[in-house]
Amino acid sequence: MSKVYLTGAGPGDIELLTLKALRVIQVADVIIYDRLANPDILEKAKNGCEFVYVGKEDGRHILPQDEINEMIYKHALQSTCVVRLKGGDPFVFGRGGEEAMYLKERNIAYEIIPGITSAVSVPAYAGIPVTHRGIAVSFRVVTGHESPDKPESQIPWEAFKSDDTLVFLMGLSKLSKICDKLVAIGKPLDYPVAVISRGTTPEQKVVIGTLGDIASKAVGLPTPALIVVGKVVELRKELAWFST
Ligand code: SAH
Repeated sequence: MSKVYLTGAGPGDIELLTLKALRVIQVADVIIYDRLANPDILEKAKNGCEFVYVGKEDGRHILPQDEINEMIYKHALQSTCVVRLKGGDPFVFGRGGEEAMYLKERNIAYEIIPGITSAVSVPAYAGIPVTHRGIAVSFRVVTGHESPDKPESQIPWEAFKSDDTLVFLMGLSKLSKICDKLVAIGKPLDYPVAVISRGTTPEQKVVIGTLGDIASKAVGLPTPALIVVGKVVELRKELAWFST
């Protein structure tokens, strides 16, 4: 009986892989992996394990999602242990839900192995806690994929007026539009923002600024990168610990 493990690879630092993920990676017959999954993880696989790359390059999909779904399914018909390895957590903007649904409809057994999401761990490696007593009582993880000037946005921008922390994933190319939108809903121009590129890896870069100036400061930062908006960003002054 074959099984597909929809597995989180963590944000980059290989030591942030879970023991459960490592266990299935070590016995996998095939590993289907994304660009964001640290390639060093593949060295943990057994001899003869097949590797299939289905990542994205510069936002361009190598394979459309329905072809990825079908590929996972085809491998499940042929192999006993299939690992679908994704950056961070498979259910945080990872389309893991769609892949699980596709398998379920075809009676393929699967398990979800959660991963450490970049949304929390990348700020942590920059010395930014996403919540902090007296500063932020909640945080939101928001897609930056959708253009903030889209007329019928699904993003509840008006709900972002509070001081709760906002973490935008996939938003680097829309950074200035995101900042403009947050100013338009009433946040001050000097409101703190951090952009963290390649977090948790030796190439980690952190740029600190405000809604007014971060877009010009963060020009040219490499992806993957995420954006943290909130007063918690100021805690980095005291809490920065990871230097590269
Ligand atoms: N499932 C993933 C997120 C997928 S969306 C997770 O849970 O982490 C991809 C986005 O995640 C990127 O565009 C970027 O915003 C963010 N990201 C992933 N790894 C990152 C890293 N090491 N540093 C900064 N941002 C990262």
